[in-house]
Amino acid sequence: MSATGQGRVVVIGAGIAGLAAAHRLLRRGARVTVLEASDRVGGKLLPGEIAGARVDFGAESMLARRPEAVALAREVGLTDRLQPPATATASLWTRGALRPMPKGHVMGVPGTASALSGVLSEEGLARIERDADLPRTQIGDDVAVGEYVAARLGREVVDRLVEPLLGGVYAGDAYRISMRSAVPQLFQAARTHDSLTEAVREIQAKAAAGQQTGPVFMGIEGGVGTLPIAVAESVRAQGGEILTGAPVKELRREPSQGWRIVAGDRVLYADAVIVAVPAPVAAGLLRAEAPEAAAELAGVEYASMALVTLAYRRGEVLLPEGSGFLVPPVDGRTIKASTFASQKWGWIADENPDLVVLRTSVGRYGETEILRRDDADLVDVSRHDLEQATGLDATPVETRVTRWTDGLPQYPVGHHARVARIREHVGKLPGLAVCGAQYDGVGIPACIASAYAAVDQIQGDLRAVQELTANPVQSLHGGAGE
Ligand SMILES: Cc1cc2nc3c(=O)[nH]c(=O)nc-3n(C[C@H](O)[C@H](O)[C@H](O)COP(=O)(O)OP(=O)(O)OC[C@H]3O[C@@H](n4cnc5c(N)ncnc54)[C@H](O)[C@@H]3O)c2cc1C
Repeated sequence: MSATGQGRVVVIGAGIAGLAAAHRLLRRGARVTVLEASDRVGGKLLPGEIAGARVDFGAESMLARRPEAVALAREVGLTDRLQPPATATASLWTRGALRPMPKGHVMGVPGTASALSGVLSEEGLARIERDADLPRTQIGDDVAVGEYVAARLGREVVDRLVEPLLGGVYAGDAYRISMRSAVPQLFQAARTHDSLTEAVREIQAKAAAGQQTGPVFMGIEGGVGTLPIAVAESVRAQGGEILTGAPVKELRREPSQGWRIVAGDRVLYADAVIVAVPAPVAAGLLRAEAPEAAAELAGVEYASMALVTLAYRRGEVLLPEGSGFLVPPVDGRTIKASTFASQKWGWIADENPDLVVLRTSVGRYGETEILRRDDADLVDVSRHDLEQATGLDATPVETRVTRWTDGLPQYPVGHHARVARIREHVGKLPGLAVCGAQYDGVGIPACIASAYAAVDQIQGDLRAVQELTANPVQSLHGGAGE
């Protein structure tokens, strides 16, 4: 982008990825229009209220061990509202009881068998010890996390720990999820070690030597859902335009005019476009100009889920300590996790001294039956499981079900290669880039990182457009409504 900042970029999708892209583009001097199909910004980040309490109805926590999300929150003025979880302890509801979540593992993979005592059976613990004697397991270009860990340490580690932890991020199936994409540090370590537990110990030693201090996760007072709203405000304050209720239907490249974008009855022209929408929508938009990329995107699968948020009178509830619990699918329960929001986030407790808010989640990849149930049923199964796990039998003062159909893209074995092919095809078209949860990670920081990578990619293209043009101002076409 030139220092004069005349390049017009259209960003399609105002989830956190699209907004982060717009924010960075503006900082670099571009002219930006964001087009969002729905009537609000934020996508999977959704703040709301239950029984008068501010809560998140979508994503609620940001990984703080990588910088992007916390840094963006600071850039848009939320520094004072960043807040780590009030408790770092959590539980596993497994083998009939809530058990303390073990420490000393990498995504459920332990450095020693003893790290999982209390969670695994004696046989399961004994099986871990065999890792040291087994010959190296070949992992090739990629391998399913579950398959590899089961081969090294036995299925119990996968079923009782890896699966619920990975499921908490991807709502996926550990025996399908790519180790290379989902747990890259484990993948790299597994390539160079015969023993998996030894590899994990090395990862842990490096982390300790790197002195990674500070909270692993961070929240935002008022909800992580307020982040996209603050980013959108910042985008507007910098002169960027965000149009909601503007579903993009068509994206074409016109040799003389750059990119032509059709959103409802609006036609816009731009020098560059960043496509920040979920894979099926991106596939539709790219079909005309980048059919190979579209075909790859059409193959990305999603998991659907629902969150059930429940508010209780404080005097009627006594929950176990900690931020909540995860449930291994092998235990046969309906809910897959519960977050004790009032205990996890100090700001929720402080703002609502008379309430206890918690939430459960249901639905994993391939589990469609549960999500066909109506809201009242989902509340009932949540209350039933909560009572079984914690003894909570009070009647909630308010409940709320939030459905996230196709909420989380799946990262099966070979995902990295698919993403590389998508980027290769997209990269052949000057001024086109993609970003969002289906590429480099589903977490908020990874989505933001993919947005920044998209900005870097089109930056060179925009510069070339402007260098080829005698008068950049006149070469740039249109704006919203044209
Ligand atoms: C229930 C749930 C809980 C989660 N919890 C966490 C968590 O605690 N921490 C964490 O880090 N991650 C969490 N995630 C993952 C994370 O929230 C998402 O991966 C991330 O927010 C996705 O951002 P995105 O911008 O890629 O996509 P989206 O949020 O999907 O945004 C895409 C946007 O594009 C818009 N759009 C679609 N079609 C069009 C069109 N034709 N034209 C214009 N706009 C269009 C959509 O309306 C949407 O606003 C969670 C996800 C879910 C579903």
